[in-house]
Amino acid sequence: MRKVALRPGLEDELKDALSQLELWRCHQCGQCTPVCPSARHGGIRTREVMERASTGAMDLSMDQEIWKCVMCNSCSERCQLGVDPAHVITLLRNAAAQRGNRPEHFAEELKLFASSGMSFPRTGLTRKMRKEFSLPELDVSEGTMEELRRLISSTRLGRL
Ligand code: SF4
Ligand code: SF4
Repeated sequence: MRKVALRPGLEDELKDALSQLELWRCHQCGQCTPVCPSARHGGIRTREVMERASTGAMDLSMDQEIWKCVMCNSCSERCQLGVDPAHVITLLRNAAAQRGNRPEHFAEELKLFASSGMSFPRTGLTRKMRKEFSLPELDVSEGTMEELRRLISSTRLGRL
């Protein structure tokens, strides 16, 4: 298997992971960008991120672009060369978060999730909309909350 040559700046584990993903397959065709809902609204430029990841031309302690991905996987489905950009972005995010680079709202969402079982607030508007769509009231049982607390603890998600 051909290995990716990365410049210094990315952690060794990340280099290994990216090599295993065979990022060298990326021919910079750009097909992953037009299918990206984030790119369509001025967000992440997927092809460019793949280019920067394969050359090591990114500072993970401050890169903001990787956080604009909404994890829809459309890019990975589109890529005909099996590069799996969404997974690459996930690895980049993991490494960035370990360096303290992660959006503040992620921590806020996690706090809400840990306390209520949901990552968005239950408001009068959400209740009204659910009623209009004939959806049942949102309710998270104590058993589910207990399971959630165990998951957060075992994955050390709480450290966020
Ligand atoms: S990740 Fe795939 S679709 Fe995107 S530029 Fe590279 S080869 Fe093309
Ligand atoms: S997974 Fe991220 S980068 Fe890929 S298409 Fe979706 S939003 Fe864009």
